[in-house]
Amino acid sequence: MSRVAALGAGIVGITTAYFLNKAGHQVTVIERNAHAGLETSYANGGQLSYSYVAPLAGPGVVPKIPPWLLRADSPLRFYPKFDVDQWRWCINFVRACNRPQAEISTVHLLRLAYYSRDLIHDIVANEPITFDYRRNGKLVIFSDAASLDGAKRTLDFQRAFGSEQNALDSKECLALEPALQYIKSRVVGGIHTPSEDAGDCHDFCVAMEGLLRKRGVNFLTSTSVDRFTCNAAGTRIEAVSTSAGDIDADTFVMAMGAANAWHAKRLGFYLPIYPLKGYSLTLDTSNAKDFASAPRISVTDSAYKVVYALLGNELRIAGMADIAGYDTTLDTVRVKLLINHAKAVFPNAGDYAADLKPWCGLRPATPKGTPIVGASPITNLFLNAGHGALGWTLSCGCAKVVSDLISGEKTGIALEGLTLES
Ligand SMILES: Cc1cc2nc3c(=O)[nH]c(=O)nc-3n(C[C@H](O)[C@H](O)[C@H](O)COP(=O)(O)OP(=O)(O)OC[C@H]3O[C@@H](n4cnc5c(N)ncnc54)[C@H](O)[C@@H]3O)c2cc1C
Repeated sequence: MSRVAALGAGIVGITTAYFLNKAGHQVTVIERNAHAGLETSYANGGQLSYSYVAPLAGPGVVPKIPPWLLRADSPLRFYPKFDVDQWRWCINFVRACNRPQAEISTVHLLRLAYYSRDLIHDIVANEPITFDYRRNGKLVIFSDAASLDGAKRTLDFQRAFGSEQNALDSKECLALEPALQYIKSRVVGGIHTPSEDAGDCHDFCVAMEGLLRKRGVNFLTSTSVDRFTCNAAGTRIEAVSTSAGDIDADTFVMAMGAANAWHAKRLGFYLPIYPLKGYSLTLDTSNAKDFASAPRISVTDSAYKVVYALLGNELRIAGMADIAGYDTTLDTVRVKLLINHAKAVFPNAGDYAADLKPWCGLRPATPKGTPIVGASPITNLFLNAGHGALGWTLSCGCAKVVSDLISGEKTGIALEGLTLES
């Protein structure tokens, strides 16, 4: 068993530490914040979306990009920068926007997501942690017939890979989720996936940190990874220099979210990851007008690309993708837009003026939408990176794969399409 340093304690780093600890390794977690889950894993959409994994780079996306870029209320915004990495990522993203690539990515993501689901269910069943977890299913609603038809085709395609999803008409959507009453005139139908879950990712990270500390994992919090010291050939990391001094280990796992690309560059290799900034609102529903005001089931409003999940008493509302670099300031215009969308859909779910917490975070996105796990060009550095819009969903699957690779075990799923090489 080896000494492993997990770099970063977002959902990806914390689950990596969990599986490494379970496998008997001596684990140190290095995290720049005071505790786990304070960056992108803090207030994400909360959806454990195992069957709804189609990448953002879909076949119909390219024609939509010009109008999206011109509209201030667009779900996707592009803020051009003098940054080669931004343009390189965008070109690769556009190249990935075709049906064959989207289908290939979907197959890889489904395989990983189902594996992750089994592992999350195992944690829920066996570990003493709580995180507002619910098996509540998800309803994706559509506002035009063409989009619904496209979703039905995807449903047929995914069924062949084990997805259990049903197409519903407008009335069935309303019967399933009465809180959609305020937009019933624009709901033409939906796709219902009963097997989807929801849970608070930040609460999961905090609970896991507590559990892992008790099990002997060493947490170096408020400690930032500054640089790496490699051997003369640059093929092996000898130590990582941090704000608390040099830390050595046999093996290192890169799990620093959007920051991974920057560190990879300093180590001499390219990771195709760029931040896609997203926004969320957390609405206290204790003051909801009545039981049918806030959705019980997770909802995705596909017309606006906004997701809703009930986490305990709070409704998490999330959406938007800004290609705007590493800036994490809260854009009040984008926040207002998200509030307006939410108010139109669930106007009485809570007091939007008083009980609302806005937030933004950087999705570490790859152009194809598939994460990158496993080996890197540095022999003792493993990657667990690029989880984009699905990091909460895919975290356990990716973490177990990385732990198995480090342990020299056979991985539970094939890694085709999920590594730096493939
Ligand atoms: C608006 C929004 C909604 C989303 N909704 C969903 C959803 O519904 N379902 C889903 O599955 N996913 C969702 N996601 C995606 C998901 O949140 C991310 O994929 C996931 O949080 C990424 O986890 P991570 O651990 O890689 O990154 P992070 O959570 O950012 O963790 C990286 C950690 O590394 C640390 N770190 C970075 N640099 C250093 C350094 N130099 N030294 C030390 N520590 C460092 C950071 O402090 C941080 O704690 C959403 C994302 C956003 C933005």
